[in-house]
Amino acid sequence: MTDIIQLLPDHVANQIAAGEVVQRPASVVKELMENAIDANATSIKLIIKDAGKTLIQVIDDGKGMSATDARLSFERHATSKIRSAEDLFDLHTKGFRGEALASIAAIAHVELKTKRDNDELGTQITLEGSEVITQDIVVTPKGTSIAVKHLFFNIPARRNFLKSNNVELRHIIDEFHRVALAHPDIAFAMYHNGSETFNLPNSNYRQRVVNIFGGKTNEKLVPVEEETEILKISGFVGKPEFAKRTKTEQFFFVNNRFIKSPYLNHAINSAFEGLVKEGSHPSYFLNLTVDPKSIDINIHPTKTEIKFDDEHTLYAILRSSVKHSLGQFNIAPVLDFEH
Ligand code: ADP
Ligand code: MG
Repeated sequence: MTDIIQLLPDHVANQIAAGEVVQRPASVVKELMENAIDANATSIKLIIKDAGKTLIQVIDDGKGMSATDARLSFERHATSKIRSAEDLFDLHTKGFRGEALASIAAIAHVELKTKRDNDELGTQITLEGSEVITQDIVVTPKGTSIAVKHLFFNIPARRNFLKSNNVELRHIIDEFHRVALAHPDIAFAMYHNGSETFNLPNSNYRQRVVNIFGGKTNEKLVPVEEETEILKISGFVGKPEFAKRTKTEQFFFVNNRFIKSPYLNHAINSAFEGLVKEGSHPSYFLNLTVDPKSIDINIHPTKTEIKFDDEHTLYAILRSSVKHSLGQFNIAPVLDFEH
């Protein structure tokens, strides 16, 4: 009998990996926007056609890439962000897997334009299904533009599995909100089918929340600030009377990364206990800053779940500081009265 095991060709391996990283157009939006942030962009534009099914383009004014790096960026496990296994436990960037561009290029048509500040000319590369079609020297502004067209063109099953444009657009807007909330100091704009959906100037956190969720939000925000040896908390919770039927205004960011944490969510709910009706959900927009060495982000490809070293302590600090903030807000009218 002959041996039967073979290594998969790169383009097949990339397509398999893509299945994990890219579930829908919104996943591409997330990866491209995070790359723009890691490139120190100060302004990021997202351009979408047909809820991302036809086009997803992200344009940034970040540091750009050399011609060689631009070519390498589409290889799997190609990253400028970590060098060794130790770096995995002290992450300061959104990306580190070096998988996003390789995965996206495996299942779409991609056009990259990029230029570093000091280079006279930039690089343009087009790819289709992992294959480089053209590479040229071009005139292009500083920064990077990546256009992703015809997502899942070579995986009809995946393409058919996509939901209606309304649903896919909703997912894209959710990702856009998360990234924009995590980085109020960066300007963001979004365009869908040629019209402007969001235009968010760089600002502070309160202003960013208000710009996204509307002017009425301003009056309902109660600041939460706390600093302990292991955790810094900053942000806002909504006043209890503004609690919503949906969980659409619940955001945790850990070191500027949006995360889902039922456990920490429970800490907030318990701080609101007795203040909101059963079945309504308090709003919160909270940034937690912890030592990168005390968390593990590498448990899921989309990185929305993380593991904390000392979850119980975080829970206790979070709960008590939210309670404290709500308490201050509750006694405020009494103090006013005394004047
Ligand atoms: P990762 O972000 O995990 O490193 P990606 O596949 O997303 O992996 O990107 C690969 C590499 O390409 C990055 O490490 C970075 O060096 C480069 N890159 C990607 N997007 C940009 C961008 N918008 N600006 C500058 N460099 C970029
Ligand atoms: Mg990345």
